[in-house]
This record gives sequence, C-alpha cells and structure tokens, in this order.
Amino acid sequence: MTTTTLTLNNGVELPALGFGVFQTPADQTATAVAEAFRVGYRLVDTAAAYANERGVGDAFRASGLTRDDVFIQTKLWISDYGYDQALHSFEKSARKLGVDQIDLLLLHQPLTSRFELTLDAYRALEKLYADGRVRAIGVSNFMPEVLTELLEKTEVVPAVNQIEVHPYFQQRELQALHAEHDILTQAWSPIGGVTIYGAGQKSTLENETIGQIADAHGKSPAQVMLRWHLQQGRSAIPKSVKPARIAENFDVFDFELTGDELAAIDALDTGVRSGPEPTSITLENYGREIPEA
Ligand code: NDP
Repeated sequence: MTTTTLTLNNGVELPALGFGVFQTPADQTATAVAEAFRVGYRLVDTAAAYANERGVGDAFRASGLTRDDVFIQTKLWISDYGYDQALHSFEKSARKLGVDQIDLLLLHQPLTSRFELTLDAYRALEKLYADGRVRAIGVSNFMPEVLTELLEKTEVVPAVNQIEVHPYFQQRELQALHAEHDILTQAWSPIGGVTIYGAGQKSTLENETIGQIADAHGKSPAQVMLRWHLQQGRSAIPKSVKPARIAENFDVFDFELTGDELAAIDALDTGVRSGPEPTSITLENYGREIPEA
C-alpha cells in the first residue's frame, strides 16, 4: 500500500491521510490510536479541548514506533490564548502527549471578538517554532478575512489551516487563498462526520452520487470521499473508534477517481457549513479551562 506524503511550506513532510480523535472518549483513545498505528496511519490529530492527548501519547509509547515515525499534531484552545498563556498551554499539551516536540501545533479557532489574544497566541507559536519545540505551526477554522489579517500582522505564514471540508461544504474560495500562500488545507470531518451528527441533512455517506462512484470502484462511500481529498491535494483526518472502519478509511491507495468523478463530487457543494460559525465562538460561550498536565 503506497501512502501519500505532503510537504508543508517550511519543507516538513507529513502523511496526507491521518487519524482524528475528536469525540473519541479519553478511555478509548489509546485503543483507537493503537489500532490506527497497527493498520498504517502515522499522523494523529488531537487537541487540548478533546481531553484525550494522554491517550494519544500512551498509544504512541506502546506502539514501538520511533518519534520520527509518527506525526503528532494538536491544537491550543481559545481559553489559553494570549502570549504567555499559549506558551504554557504548549507545555501542558506536550506533557500530556509525553513528547518534547510537537510536529504541528495549531490555534484551534480564531477568537474574532478578541483577535489581539489570537494574534498573541500565534506569536507564541512563532516563538515555539523558532525554539524548535514545534516543527510547524498553523491555524484551524480561520476564514478568509481573519486569515488575511493574521498574514498581515504576523511573521510566519501558517503551514496549515484545518477547516471543515467534505462534499457538502467545500470552501473553495478559502482553499484558493491557501494555495496563494502555500498553506495546506487539512480537511476536518472529511467524510462528513459533522453532518452525521445532525445538521438534518442526508449524510454524505448515503449520498447517491457518492454511492454510485463507490459501487463503480468496489469501494465504500467513505473511501471515495477520502480519495477525493487526496487527489485534490488535501490532507484528511477521518475519525473512527471502530477497527473495521479505521482500516477501511486507510485502505484508499489502490484506486483512482476519474476527472468526471471528482467533478461530480465537487458539484455536491451546498455552501452550507455544518460546524459552528467561526465568528460565533467566544470565550463566554465556548471558554473552558484546559487542565494542567
Ligand atoms: P469524520 O468525517 O471523520 O466522521 C466521523 C464519523 O463518521 C464518526 O461518527 C464515525 O463513527 C463515522 N465513521 C468513520 N468512518 C466511517 C466509515 N468508514 N463508514 C461510516 N461511518 C464512519 O468527522 P469528524 O468530525 O470526526 O472529523 C475528523 C477529525 O477532524 C476529528 O476527529 C478531529 O481530529 C478533526 N476535527 C477538527 C475540528 C476543528 O475544529 N479543527 C472540528 C471537527 C473535527 P465511529 O467512530 O463510530 O466509526
């Protein structure tokens, strides 16, 4: 099985296909990540706010893999924004993960109502990057306007913007802005998991167009969506706690979608996000303490 590797704007390489652990309960995280490592995933995406960084670290230590084998990324939560707070938050995450260096550290959300705190947190990421504590830095859920402001007011161009991308919500304008600045688009909810959780739409997994393409290749709808991301140059980080699905979602390197099939999936974009509107995230409604390590 040939995996795909992407190169970030600072030369750091990462596997295009990774493993997500949002909503994976803390007591199931080590088992799920261990299974992911077993079937071949080498990138894990967690976050301080997921409260399961320890499980990721436990799985890594039990895996027998070396630190160089595995790409570990996590995200700082908005409650830890500000310069000193963000530096300290890195220490909390690194200790919970049990690593000295984090491969990719992201700001989880722009705090648009307190953008100066967001900028200061990003400057802390720049410091951690300069000091070699992280190999790359980036953001998540940054919309075009806030991303542009960040680029104007800080030094290091983010290596990644991790955003909601699945067939029903593709954010093409934002992806084009990423391309202009050599920022990698990393797709969260890559198989439409967020729509499964109740936006009231028919799930992407039950979409007829995707189903027909899947049948044509003898693959599953999830595998078709992941292939769509990979062939369009995105990183994708599907989540599952079920061994069969963990394996299924990694078994995507033995088929190729045609140009027409890619276009048919592109045409499913509704322009409607399923996740929260990034500007709606404030300290008042989403703030919560990230425990010490
Ligand atoms: P996904 O698109 O990965 O879908 C996950 C959901 O689909 C789960 O309900 C899972 O259930 C189910 N599932 C997984 N594989 C299959 C399959 N092959 N067939 C059918 N169902 C399947 O959505 P997520 O929202 O979890 O996003 C993935 C990752 O992206 C997260 O884990 C996290 O790391 C990141 N993320 C980041 C966000 C951000 O703000 N930066 C926001 C949301 C996610 P089960 O586990 O039972 O298999």
